[in-house]
Amino acid sequence: MECKKCNKSIFAVVRKNDVVEYRIIDTNDRNGIGIQGWKGNWRTEEKKVMKILGIRCQNCDEWLVKSGDMPIDIDGGRRIESIDGNKGVKIISTGLEKFM
Ligand SMILES: [Zn+2]
Repeated sequence: MECKKCNKSIFAVVRKNDVVEYRIIDTNDRNGIGIQGWKGNWRTEEKKVMKILGIRCQNCDEWLVKSGDMPIDIDGGRRIESIDGNKGVKIISTGLEKFM
């Protein structure tokens, strides 16, 4: 498997997350006016994986496949069937289909 644009073989699955974060307002000056600053940094409250976007070449940013386009034939009788964020990318052979 190599990139059609740059011929390298460095691919990454790209996913989009939905993150809920909070940050505490500094209320030391209880009757203050103007900008009230922060106490500490942003903290993560909840993080959800929203969607796997597809597979991208890390060398030139060309998309090999976007999620909505799967399954998709790649090279020499192989097909990207699905992407599992935990297990990996499932590639199957399309060779057998010709005889069925
Ligand atoms: Zn590339």
